[in-house]
Amino acid sequence: MRAGRNPEDVKLVAVTKTVDTERINEAVEWGLRVFGESRVQEAKDKISNLKSQISNTMIEWHLVGHLQKNKAKIAVQLFDLIHSLDSAELAAEINKNAEKIGKTQKVLLQVKLSKEETKHGVAKEDLLDLVKAVSEMNNLKLEGLMTMPPFSDDPEMVRPYFRELRKLRDNIEKSGFALPELSMGMTNDFEVAIEEGATMVRIGTGIFANGS
Ligand SMILES: *Cc1c(COP(=O)(O)O)cnc(C)c1O
Repeated sequence: MRAGRNPEDVKLVAVTKTVDTERINEAVEWGLRVFGESRVQEAKDKISNLKSQISNTMIEWHLVGHLQKNKAKIAVQLFDLIHSLDSAELAAEINKNAEKIGKTQKVLLQVKLSKEETKHGVAKEDLLDLVKAVSEMNNLKLEGLMTMPPFSDDPEMVRPYFRELRKLRDNIEKSGFALPELSMGMTNDFEVAIEEGATMVRIGTGIFANGS
């Protein structure tokens, strides 16, 4: 592998937003087991649809899109990993709902590294405080960080964002928190993300390019 990384160290999350259950089912037949959705309601419908078709296959569902507080309850029921936690209020809501069903919810903190106002994510200045807050919540398990750089056709334009996320992670680990997972890289830039230390790449169009 170009990046000198072991392929087993990088998890492929197949992003299935806009992809129907029939095609997700095909992807399961190809051997994919980890799927990412960006909207809670859409995921709910697809997951129950798919369960009736392939009840015996172990599938992991990840939420990669923004989560609203009022959807936290359903999200906790559906997702193995939430990539988009970005505030203490949302963390408390997820924690509360996880506690109710006796679950430890795995989460990543989404970090906002660019100044674009529309992007979700915690500002890097506030990241350590959020790490501390989440680490104290009994029903959350913080596993790492996620970022969505501004879109660019040129992967080299986004490399600095990936590098920055890794540095932020390394710094926080020096304060005694373990953040092994880095969710970064999509269809256009996953190779660069892997070179910069991604442990999860979120690929949509690169897998499901046609017919979606
Ligand atoms: C859609 C989406 C992806 C996948 O993007 P592609 O460019 O289609 O690979 C990854 N992450 C998030 C958060 C997304 O919303």
